[in-house]
Amino acid sequence: MSETLGTSRLLALDKQHVWHPYSPMPGQAAPLVVDSAAGVRLRIAEPGGGTHELIDGMSSWWSAVHGYNHPVLNEAARAQLDRMSHVMFGGLTHEPAVRLAARLVEMTPEPLQHVFFSGSGSVSVEVAIKMCLQYWRSLGRPLKRRLLTWRGGYHGDTWQPMSVCDPDGGMHALWSGALPRQVFAQAPPSGFDAPPDPAYAAHLSEMIARHAHELAAVIVEPVVQNAGGMRFHAPAYLATLRDACDEHGVLLIFDEIATGFGRTGTLFAAEHAGVSPDVLCVGKALTGGYLSMAATLCTSRVADGISRGEVPVLAHGPTCMANPLAAAIADASLNLLLEQDWQREVKRIEARLRDGLAPASDLPGVRDVRVLGAIGVVQLDHRLDAAAMATATRAAAREGVWLRPFGDLIYTMPPYIATDADVTRICAAVRAAATAA
Ligand SMILES: *Cc1c(COP(=O)(O)O)cnc(C)c1O
Repeated sequence: MSETLGTSRLLALDKQHVWHPYSPMPGQAAPLVVDSAAGVRLRIAEPGGGTHELIDGMSSWWSAVHGYNHPVLNEAARAQLDRMSHVMFGGLTHEPAVRLAARLVEMTPEPLQHVFFSGSGSVSVEVAIKMCLQYWRSLGRPLKRRLLTWRGGYHGDTWQPMSVCDPDGGMHALWSGALPRQVFAQAPPSGFDAPPDPAYAAHLSEMIARHAHELAAVIVEPVVQNAGGMRFHAPAYLATLRDACDEHGVLLIFDEIATGFGRTGTLFAAEHAGVSPDVLCVGKALTGGYLSMAATLCTSRVADGISRGEVPVLAHGPTCMANPLAAAIADASLNLLLEQDWQREVKRIEARLRDGLAPASDLPGVRDVRVLGAIGVVQLDHRLDAAAMATATRAAAREGVWLRPFGDLIYTMPPYIATDADVTRICAAVRAAATAA
C-alpha cells in the first residue's frame, strides 16, 4: 500500500474532490477524519497529528448495531473472502444468499415468502414499488400505478422513493413537475402511546377509498418516521391501513429499513401493531453496518400475480445483487442479534435514554423529548442552519460523543452494545448539543 496521506493533506483533497451527503461542492464544514473504529468508539485523526476517541451515538445511521470491528463479523468476512467476495447472481446462486433469504423469511411474518436482494435501501424501495405496479399491470389494471403515503416520511434518495418523501421536507419544491405525483395523507398524530385518533383513522380510510382505482400501493414507515422528522405514532394506524388496503384492493408496503432488527423494541416495528404488509423493505442494520445491502420481501400473492403477467419476470437485476460477502456478514450479524437477549439490551438502552434525556425538557429552546426503544430524540423549537449544526456537533464532541443533528433535531440511536456508562455520556452530549444550538 502507498504511504498514508496525512490528515491535513487528506482534508485538503477531500474538500477539493469529494462530495459528502447533502453537501455543497466544495464542502464548507471540514469533516472529522476517522482513522479506525472498534466497539462503540470512533478513533478520530487530528489535523496536527495524534488521535482521540468519540463514542458513536449514531450507529453510522442506524446500521452498526453490534459496534465496529466486531470479531464475529470480521471472521465471517474473512471466511467468505477466502471463498469468493462476489459472483454474479443471474443463473448462479450461493450459500450466503440462500441462507440469508431463508433466515429473513423465517424472521418476518408468515405471508412474506420471497426475497429480492439489492445494494441499498433506496433501491429496495424502488423494487418494492416496481413489484406493486407490475402486480396490477399483470392483473390487467395498469391504471393502478400511483402510491399513497402520509406526510413526514422518508424512503430514500432515488427517484421513486423521493416522490413519497415528505413533500415539504423532501425538497419536492426543487423537483415539482419532474417527480411522479403521489397521494399524500396528513401526517400521523404524534405519540407512540397517544390514544389513536378516530378522525385521523377515518381520514386514512377515506383517502384510500377515494384513490383506490389509481393506487398500486400504500407505503409507510411503521411506528417511527425517521429521517423525515424522527416522529413516533400509535401502532393502531397500521391496522387501519391494512384494513383499508384489504377492503379497497390496494397493496401495503412497510419500509423497515431504519426500524428493522430490533431498534424500536420489537424485531420489526409493525409487530407493535400485529400487522403484516404485502411487501417489506429492510436494509441499514441488515449487515451490521459492514457493507451496503438491502432486501425487498413479498408475499406469494404478489409474486404469483407478477408471474401470471404478459411479462412474467421481475425486470430488475443489480450487478452486485446478493453479494456473497455482504450476505455472509448479514447472516452472521443476524445470528449475533438473535443469539443474545437483544430485547433486554434495547430495553436497557431505552431506560437509560429516558433517564438521561428527561432533563433536556427543561432546557430553553427544547420543544419535545421522546424515546422509543434505542432511539432518543430532542426536538428544538427552531431549525439549525449549517453553522448551528456545526456548533451542536462540536459541543457533543467536547463531551466525547459523535452526533449528527439535522433540521430541528438532536437525536441518537446507539449501537446495542453501548454500556450504561456509554449511554449516559451520549445523553450528556445530546443535552450539551441542545444547549449550544
Ligand atoms: C435510510 C433509509 C432509506 C434509504 O436507504 P439507503 O440505503 O440510504 O438508500 C429508505 N427508507 C428509510 C426508512 C430509511 O431510513
